[in-house]
Amino acid sequence: MSQTKPRSPSTPHRQSQGGKDFRKRVQRSSKHPAATTAPQAASKPRLGNPAAKPCITLKAGREKSLQRRHPWIFSGAIECVDGTPASGDTVAVRDFSGDFLAWAAYNADSQITARVWSWREKDVIDANFFRSRIADALAARKALGLERDSNGMRMIHGESDGLPGLIVDRYGDVLVMQLGSAGPEHWRDTLADILQELCAPVCIYERSDSDGRELEGLPVRSGVLRGALPDKVEVTEHGIRFAVDVAAGQKTGFYLDQRDNRALTGTLAAGRDVLNCFCYTGGFSLYALRGGAKSVLSIDSSQEALQLAQTNVQLNALDAAKAEWQCADVFDALRKLRDQNRKFDLIVLDPPKFAPTAAFAEKASRAYKDINLLGFKLLRPGGLLFTYSCSGGISDDLFQKIIAGAALDAGVDAQIVKKLHAAADHPVLLTFPEGAYLKGLVLRVVG
Ligand code: SAH
Repeated sequence: MSQTKPRSPSTPHRQSQGGKDFRKRVQRSSKHPAATTAPQAASKPRLGNPAAKPCITLKAGREKSLQRRHPWIFSGAIECVDGTPASGDTVAVRDFSGDFLAWAAYNADSQITARVWSWREKDVIDANFFRSRIADALAARKALGLERDSNGMRMIHGESDGLPGLIVDRYGDVLVMQLGSAGPEHWRDTLADILQELCAPVCIYERSDSDGRELEGLPVRSGVLRGALPDKVEVTEHGIRFAVDVAAGQKTGFYLDQRDNRALTGTLAAGRDVLNCFCYTGGFSLYALRGGAKSVLSIDSSQEALQLAQTNVQLNALDAAKAEWQCADVFDALRKLRDQNRKFDLIVLDPPKFAPTAAFAEKASRAYKDINLLGFKLLRPGGLLFTYSCSGGISDDLFQKIIAGAALDAGVDAQIVKKLHAAADHPVLLTFPEGAYLKGLVLRVVG
């Protein structure tokens, strides 16, 4: 087996984007932050009997996280690998004494060497297994009535839907599939066939170009998998229409996870001067405009995203005169606004993933503190700050501490008036807390 360098796992659900990998920014002042803080890959597992059925045997005592039903098996937990499993092959996982624990997808190239498909020994990991898992995920969204609010929806949310590494987002009658790990990569055609059969979309488009692919040793790939991509793809969420660029947009084209948080912002925007930082295609801005904001200044570093945002204002016949768009680095733009003594009544900060893993937490914390400190300074008394982190490496607690530090340094008192998370089509499996990557706080600056 070839030697691979230590890799840190990254939650695959919302990668850093914008043509920039934010990890480069947070790494700037330190040459090798990951080398000091990332979990080191332990020595490679011992190779067992090559003629045996593919099986991973864990080191003594390393079965505990699996017994708690956490679906990831790290390379350091593995005692030996029997058979000669290829990347994506299904392997049995056994504890040190040989007892069955799970069926998992194998990937020798990842620090997460196996991801669990099933905990039941009698399960067979085949097309029927995937059909049943996918049907369950679709049925759950129906049963929760999520289609009432939007025809854009995360239909499959990876580990939390029992399908590690698989993301499927629906935009009207187009599905976008993202394969984030070797397991779903192996079953790519089977998964596409099942989605075609169960959802009958006009197109299944593959966007397997997330940061996480690199960590899995998988090549970047995107393009049409089934059907044909219509010229225009659109979603309507909470009555607002958004054009979605499935082929070249960020992530799978749109940030579905913020749907309900955007709607909340809309309900609080009336009569306010709003600043929307990291606005992408105008999500929060459009809700604020519809909600009766006095003015909305939106900032993003992506010119393409800003163009689509302005198209979206037209699509919804909103008052373009109230909207100002700025293509800029938010870190610089906030400083300029502070120097100009501009003030706002409602600010949204929804940056990309500054800390994909805990290894980046320290540098990312500084970046979060910086923008939030500036945000607090730009708010009028009584103003509202909607602040988010989609970093898997930043916990709820740490995020709240960072924001508290930012308010203190900005010299303001603030109250948390609401805690926010991703919308319900992004469920979090209780045994997989990494699924809760998106955290938000609504803060009110005390006058
Ligand atoms: N709030 C958006 C999603 C934001 S995603 C919505 O509801 O749809 C994060 C955005 O930050 C992306 O559009 C990306 O282009 C932008 N971005 C990343 N780094 C940036 C920077 N330093 N300055 C400005 N924008 C940045």
